[in-house]
Amino acid sequence: MKKSEILVPRKRAIFLDRDGVLNAELGDYVKRPEELVVLPGVPSSVNLLVNAGWLVVVFTNQAGIGRGVMSYSDLTAIHLKLKSEIYLGGSELTDIYFCPHHPDDYCECRKPLPGMLIRAAADHQIELARSIVIGDSPRDIASGNQVGCETILLLTGKTTIYDSTLFPSPQPHHVFPKISSAANWILANR
Ligand SMILES: [Mg+2]
Ligand SMILES: [Zn+2]
Repeated sequence: MKKSEILVPRKRAIFLDRDGVLNAELGDYVKRPEELVVLPGVPSSVNLLVNAGWLVVVFTNQAGIGRGVMSYSDLTAIHLKLKSEIYLGGSELTDIYFCPHHPDDYCECRKPLPGMLIRAAADHQIELARSIVIGDSPRDIASGNQVGCETILLLTGKTTIYDSTLFPSPQPHHVFPKISSAANWILANR
């Protein structure tokens, strides 16, 4: 281990999936800012977590780019809207990571692979073993479990009723109905 690695303080992060966690899951790609509907309790929950000292990082598969149904500038505009709604809640996201690739590209960042988590950890000095992944689909949970994060499933998106048979082992550590329940639990217990 290099000396610099010993001295750098490792931070804790909450990694949030986007669609179905921060904004309504449409069953199709969010392709324009008008289609992004931030879910109730999201800005206030992010604000609670940031004020408690957590980094809050979004990580999202956006294969609509690889499929040619939206452009990078569309995605930038969508994320600008997301960031501004969260800013109105009183805080800011630490970063947003997205995988733009088509599933056939076999990239290292598309969930269920943990590439975005690994990159974020390097960029922001995050200790994955003390961090938490929050998602609404088996892919989100699998990516977090692979790198030793604690994982939380929300029932606000793709998954509305928890069926453990749909989740490859290991399963989510916790299941909450909505993000505010998860944020309150984290504040009280972590
Ligand atoms: Mg999702
Ligand atoms: Zn990718």
